[in-house]
Amino acid sequence: MLMAGRSRKRSKRNYILEMLSVIFFPKRCPVCDEILEPELVHRKIHPGCESRLYPVTGAVCMRCGRPLENSTQEFCYDCNRRKREGTPIKQGKALYLYQGEIKTAMYRFKYSNKREYAGFFAEQAVRKYGDWLRAKEIDVIVPVPMYKKKQRIRGYNQAETFAVELSKLTGIPVDTRFILRVKDTVPQKELDDLKRKNNLKSAFQKTENIVQYKHILVVDDIYTTGSTAEAVAEELLKTKNCQVYFLSICIGKGM
Ligand SMILES: [Zn+2]
Ligand SMILES: [Zn+2]
Repeated sequence: MLMAGRSRKRSKRNYILEMLSVIFFPKRCPVCDEILEPELVHRKIHPGCESRLYPVTGAVCMRCGRPLENSTQEFCYDCNRRKREGTPIKQGKALYLYQGEIKTAMYRFKYSNKREYAGFFAEQAVRKYGDWLRAKEIDVIVPVPMYKKKQRIRGYNQAETFAVELSKLTGIPVDTRFILRVKDTVPQKELDDLKRKNNLKSAFQKTENIVQYKHILVVDDIYTTGSTAEAVAEELLKTKNCQVYFLSICIGKGM
């Protein structure tokens, strides 16, 4: 009786807290950025807005998760081209194609403090790739780190925000100290292939860790050429006997 009374009290308190948070911190739709009506708060998106996104479906590249133009192929053009060099990432997955509405959504997520979008993306990631995460026995989530000074100015690292939400839903811990960005780099999109590689050379540095991770999931907001993800993975692989997987919210269509 006493327990039932207590839990009733607690649920009433939770309800009030929830209501207050709806009033003071209204949740917004990641696509149109309008405040969500109370009945849509649990969905975290307007159904009509969701239908304007391009989820990654159908045949995808075995390595990076990019949709394939030709479903008889195993790898996308980029991965095929790099196959000879090898890549430190065992396998990657992505939620949406980086085209249409998601581009502005990602911009706000990254630069306009719309951290709340992470909840929606994490839920979608678990719905779509929960089985994959379990099958790969991921034991830690590592967000692509941001240069410390940059993060201080921006106030947050969007990849980390996504990682934290993913961790809440999966129970897999996040490690933000395992790898650091020790060099402030120029945005990759402004560079060609070779300059990209040089730009990222020794940009990341693994710290000493006590826990020995075996299956690491690196997460980021956008995967374009994959060179950032690979630079992070290369550094992580300095730990023996571990495997690196990758998950991004968006992926570029590639060539
Ligand atoms: Zn909307
Ligand atoms: Zn690929």
